[in-house]
Amino acid sequence: MNNKLLEFRDIADKVFKNEGKFLNFTSSDEDKKKAIESLNDLKEKAEEEKYNAIKISDNDLANGFASFELVIESMKSEYKMWLSLNEKDYNKAWDFLVDAQDFAILSMQAHNVNGHLDKYNQRLLIIEKLLFPPQLFFSDRTIVSKSSCTICNKDMQECEHIKGKFYMGIQCCERVEKIESIEGIDIVKEPANKKCRAIF
Ligand SMILES: [Zn+2]
Repeated sequence: MNNKLLEFRDIADKVFKNEGKFLNFTSSDEDKKKAIESLNDLKEKAEEEKYNAIKISDNDLANGFASFELVIESMKSEYKMWLSLNEKDYNKAWDFLVDAQDFAILSMQAHNVNGHLDKYNQRLLIIEKLLFPPQLFFSDRTIVSKSSCTICNKDMQECEHIKGKFYMGIQCCERVEKIESIEGIDIVKEPANKKCRAIF
């Protein structure tokens, strides 16, 4: 693996160890907010390195630093969840928890420099089960007749990019251009989007 990525991982691990101490309910809001600031500084460094990698067209390096940006966003989202719980804003807290889970998974997909986040993900799932009641999730059955690639803007059927894969630090996504029909909305156990849920 690229030395620049390994060096940054050492720096990031130290910051995560230090700033991760307040990832709990009872630490003060002040400590949590300071930790978010420190994570923002680290993210700026990762972003700068990503742009340097893009300048020299190093796809692997750009994806590695994008992966760091995503894992930092994940930890920031978990902090925002704890802060929202303290404010008793439980819907906002749920959304931040889902963001934290999604960013962690994306970080692993972006590059294997952060391929070791399974334990962190497990922790976020345990938090979900312990802090929130069982959820009623929905999923839509939508027939898409036209979509385009977010990397090259070509028709998704014609372009060479692979949906979900990272290119120069950006994930290829399918942009829906035309919906033919919506066949139904199902209640599901494992939704694609955990924010699609019943709010009582
Ligand atoms: Zn494309």
